[in-house]
This record gives sequence, C-alpha cells and structure tokens, in this order.
Amino acid sequence: MRTHLCGDMRTSDIGQTVSVCGWVGRRRDHGGVGFVDLRDHSGIVQCVVNDDIDVRSEYVLRVTGTVRERLDGTRNENLPTGEVEIGDCVIEILRVATPPPFPIDERADNVDENIRLTYRYLDLRRERMQRNLRIRSKVNAAVRNSMDSQGFVEVETPMLVPSTPEGAREFLVPSRKEPGSFYALPQSPQLFKQLLMVGGVDRYYQIARCLRDEDLRADRQYEFMQLDMEMSFVNQDDVLDAVSESVLAAAEAVTGERPDPIERITWHDAMNRFGIDKPDLRFGMELQELTDVFANTEFKAFAGAAAIKGIKVDGGAEEYGRNQLDKLTDKAKSAGAKGLVWMKTTDEGFDSPVAKFLSDDEVVALRLAMDATTGDLILIVADDWEPTCEVLGMLRNEIGRPPVHEGPYKYVWVVEFPLFVGRDKETGNPKSGHHPFTMPHPDDIDKFESDPMSVRSIAYDLVLNGWELGSGSIRIHESELQRKVFRGLGISDEEAERKFGFFLNPFEYGAPPHGGFAFGLDRLVAILAGEDNIREVIAYPKTQSGQDPMTNSPIEGDPKAMEELGLKILPRVD
Ligand code: ASP
Repeated sequence: MRTHLCGDMRTSDIGQTVSVCGWVGRRRDHGGVGFVDLRDHSGIVQCVVNDDIDVRSEYVLRVTGTVRERLDGTRNENLPTGEVEIGDCVIEILRVATPPPFPIDERADNVDENIRLTYRYLDLRRERMQRNLRIRSKVNAAVRNSMDSQGFVEVETPMLVPSTPEGAREFLVPSRKEPGSFYALPQSPQLFKQLLMVGGVDRYYQIARCLRDEDLRADRQYEFMQLDMEMSFVNQDDVLDAVSESVLAAAEAVTGERPDPIERITWHDAMNRFGIDKPDLRFGMELQELTDVFANTEFKAFAGAAAIKGIKVDGGAEEYGRNQLDKLTDKAKSAGAKGLVWMKTTDEGFDSPVAKFLSDDEVVALRLAMDATTGDLILIVADDWEPTCEVLGMLRNEIGRPPVHEGPYKYVWVVEFPLFVGRDKETGNPKSGHHPFTMPHPDDIDKFESDPMSVRSIAYDLVLNGWELGSGSIRIHESELQRKVFRGLGISDEEAERKFGFFLNPFEYGAPPHGGFAFGLDRLVAILAGEDNIREVIAYPKTQSGQDPMTNSPIEGDPKAMEELGLKILPRVD
C-alpha cells in the first residue's frame, strides 16, 4: 500500500511520486489549501490538500502525491521531514475515526493515567510509546543474541506450577479437575531451570514472564519479564561475566555506547558506604565513620552506640531550615532511628542543638572526618550498625538522588549478600536472604550454629542507578549442605521433603554444581528509555491499584465457572 514511511521523507526524495499511509494528526487550513500532518510509527510528514476535503483527526489515510521542497519560511527544523512536503495529493480514506479523547501527541503526557490506560491503543500510537516499545524490542533482541552467542539454549518453562520459593504472595489458579487444588503462577522459573541443569542442558536462558502478587510501585507490576538464566559447572565470576555481557550488549543496542565494565562491591561495603543494598553510585554523599570521633563523648545519645555515622550535604546549611530539618528527623524516626542529629558547619565550629555537648577535640575531629567546610550540613545517626547505615542511606537517597533515568548510567554488582536476613515474626527463625537453595560462603560454614546472621552467601545483585535489576546465586547442589541450610531456616527434614522433595530428590541422580541469575527487563528498558516508571515501557500494564481500565479486569467470576471449579466467595473481612 505504501512506498515510503511518513517519517523517512527527505530532500533526496524531492520529485518522486510516493504513497504513504497513516493517521491524521494536526490539520491547518490557510485560504484554499489545507496542511495535514500524516503520522505513522516512523514520524510525521506534511501533506498539502484542498481545504474542502473532509478528513479529521485520526482518520486513516493513504496519500499519494509528489514530494517537494517546502517554501522558504515554512520549513520546520524540529521535524526530521521538516524540509519537504507531499503535494498534489490524492487521498484515500481507509477508515473514518471517532475523535480521540486526548490528542495523540506529547500533550497526552499530562492526561490522567487512567484515561491513557483506558484508551491504551490510542496512547500507544504516540511517538513516546512507539519509541519505548521499539527500545524494548531492541533490548530483547540484543539479550537474545548475546545469550545465543554465549552458548545458552532458550527453553520455555510452564506457567501452571507448584509454589516457587521467591517468597512473594502468589497468584493461584484453581484446578477444574481437582476442585480445591490450585496451581500457582510462577514467581520465576527457579525450580525448573535448576532441574534443567540436572537434565544436562548446561546453559539455559529464557525471557520469562514472572508473576508476583505484591503492591505495585514505579518499578513493580504483577507481571514482569526477566532474563532468566542458569549455568552448570561454574563459579560466581562465570555467571557475573555472562550476565554482564548480555546487559551491556542490551545497553549498547539502545544507546550506541558500550558501558564500562561493571564494578563490584560487597554487600557489607554497600551498606557501610551507601546505607543500602542497591547503592546509587551516580552521586557521592557517602556515609562517614564517626564512631571513633565520639569514643569518649559526653553526649548521651552518642555514648555507647555501636555505630555512629554521618553524611554531609555540601552547602546545605542555608538550604535546610528548621522546618525541613524537622521533616528529615521525622523521616529518620519513621525509618527506625532513635533520632537524627544535625549540625551546620560555621567558621567557629558547629551550629546545632547538640553543639554544647561537643568538646573542642570532637569539633576538630568531626570537621576532619566529614571533610566539612563552612556552610555544609551534617546529619548524624547513632545506633546499631545496620539501622545506622539504613537510616542514613535512606536520607542520602532522599536528599541527593536524581530521577532514576538520568545519566550517567551506573551499573554495580553487589556480592556476598548475607545468607539469612531478618527473622520470621512468628517463629523467630532466620529468613532466606535470596532463596533457600543459595550456596553459603565456604569461609562461613562453621558460623552456622554460633552466629547464623553473619553467614555470607554466594548471592549477588545487579544494580543500575539505585534500582535492583536482578538477583542470582550459586546454588547448593549437595544434599547434606541443603539440609543444613533448611535447618538454619527452621525447616525440618520432613517439611523440606514435603515442600521441595519433587525438586530436590532429582538432585540425587546427579546435580551438577550450578548457579544463575535473573534480571528485570522492564526496569532495564525503563531506565534506558528515560522513563521513571516501568508502566511506560509495558504495552498493557496494570494501574497502581492492579486494574486494567481498558479491559475492566479483574472482573467478577462467572457463577457457572465458579461452580465448576468448586469455588464460593466468602463475605469480605477487612
Ligand atoms: N529466581 C530468582 C529471582 O527471580 C533469580 C535467581 O536466583 O536466578 O529473583
């Protein structure tokens, strides 16, 4: 139907007879002649028509005409096709259209998101969304190419599965054949990919759909896509190298530039320096160690604290008035801090409610430790090591973090995560940092009984601009060690057999040492596309409250289907 795409027309095409197809964008009439912007996925071209022709917004047209140079003064430098137009147009109306509820251009960025999602098919016609979908497709293709050229085999795994071990709430699918029994939708292909290793596949990957019933946020949807992979006979370096290769290839495919090799930091250093396990390395404001500075302090809130640390806001003294400092203090408290001490650096020392408690030596030592000069604001927290780090990490992000998509892109591997993180509120048992099949660090095996919370694991995360892109680990392939970890988690041999027997018994037939990783494609694509929310790079996302306003789902179950499934809805208890 067409010889050219709208956005491709250039001065080199002048004189040619062309046919283009697309939708009517803006239209302007000037005494006898009309100018219609015809739009397809590639861009816009101006078509000159008689002003009596009845074509309206979003009509679908085929236009045949001659490419000509625009007259002086009518060129549009902002448009790639802005030097030319199509004249002598013959118009075929392929489909009339109802006027759209919002303009199909950048003005729709300000339209309520519910409306955009109700008419997602119109929203998708816009340049921004077309661009995002195409970036996504480029990332998928680059990832596939990279995995393929590294010898990985793409294998699909089922969507109707038993429970998987990521620890999020799952979506359940009732079985019609066995009323009262349910499949789960996969939180990840974890169990199946490990069994592929037992099955001798050696290197597996899949662009896999994963489903987790968690509260939705800017970087979270019920359904999301992961590059999921697993490798046999490898150590951590092998996995990190393979994943880095595919992520960097994807980034290069979008930006045209290959990012630098990805740095590594241990979990402990990430917490100690940035107060978070997904550090944003685009800005400084690192946590500084002050425990020694206040070793002999008279100030009660600091005396005896296991860890005292501070961050410095360059030149922040003036910017942060009493009101804002109170707000920061409230935030610190709701994040678990006992309090927040602020100090404004002055020529003489510090301006702070606690300045009077500081000795002269402490003033000098604090200035030095924080590398503070007059006008800087210092925020200090004193507590146990982890809460001290976490609260300051939260404040650091709050004060200094740019929007996620802003350059430069800073990738970082966080390695040596703790094996156990926190304890179950009911049972008091430690919880898995990653999942229960994660290999403990060989140097820490003897601390299992004496100090379980300090046992490190061979688990690693990939972080980009403060967003966790993904996680992975070297897995336990040996049953004695697996039992030990289960016991550490408070899972008895019987319970392990019941829950994971179908998964672990096959290991008895010869599980190779193996490890893997999965990273979220939606998050990577959003950042590379310059978006702050993964909804913008997903064709049909759910709203924050989990609805799809275009299809009105979720909808009430059909009574007949419910009966067949043996389901009855109980009254809601809130
Ligand atoms: N299944 C894990 C996840 O989705 C990743 C992995 O361990 O490979 O977080």
